[in-house]
Amino acid sequence: MPQPYKIVVIEDEEKIARMIKDYLENEGMYIFLAGGGSKGIGLIKEHSPDLLILDLMLPDMNGLDVCRTLRREGERSIPIIMLTARSQETDRVVGLEMGADDYIVKPFSLAELAARIRAVLRRTGGEQVSGSTGATGGKDETVVMKRGDLQIDVDNCSVKKGDREVDLTPTEFKILNLLARHPGRVFSRLQLLEACLGEAYSGYERSIDTHISNLRKKIEDDAANHSYIVTVFGFGYKFVDK
Ligand code: CA
Repeated sequence: MPQPYKIVVIEDEEKIARMIKDYLENEGMYIFLAGGGSKGIGLIKEHSPDLLILDLMLPDMNGLDVCRTLRREGERSIPIIMLTARSQETDRVVGLEMGADDYIVKPFSLAELAARIRAVLRRTGGEQVSGSTGATGGKDETVVMKRGDLQIDVDNCSVKKGDREVDLTPTEFKILNLLARHPGRVFSRLQLLEACLGEAYSGYERSIDTHISNLRKKIEDDAANHSYIVTVFGFGYKFVDK
């Protein structure tokens, strides 16, 4: 049996927080609750959880600030599911741009939340996040895709450029993994969003551009002259295998 997933929930509405905790603990997960952003960030540093459930509206700082702080302080690898109210559509877009992996709109069913958590953990390889057992791990087969000077390790969700480890967010990794798997094939923004975020974000297709732009900064030799991820004007993006 693997270790149970550790999840931090940052949510100031105590009733909702309790419901989430009770439900997910029944599902065999281990839950830490925080009623505010700064306490939540403390819990994340202390416990290195596999995933963060983050309410957007918090008393001390909002969810986007929490995202920003975590990304800035190097907690890049933690997958984030945002909880938002129906009216906060712009914030959702910003949330995805800040590197959140998914969001769920209140009111939501706990079964749906649990399903989303499992989907995000599956996509991001969450079981690796808390472990620091080194490179050998316990996997029998490791799938490493080689593209130009990039090595994309699909099992470990890690990427190397030459000898250098490239630090990608979970969403950036998913985009690169999808594009590089099908060199030359053009993907629309919507296709990338649906495939990488698991939902139809038809209203926010442009939010993929931010992820692509960040990804390019990390993997391209020349930020102004893209040789791996190429824009296909009027259609979307494609990966070029050098
Ligand atoms: Ca709230």
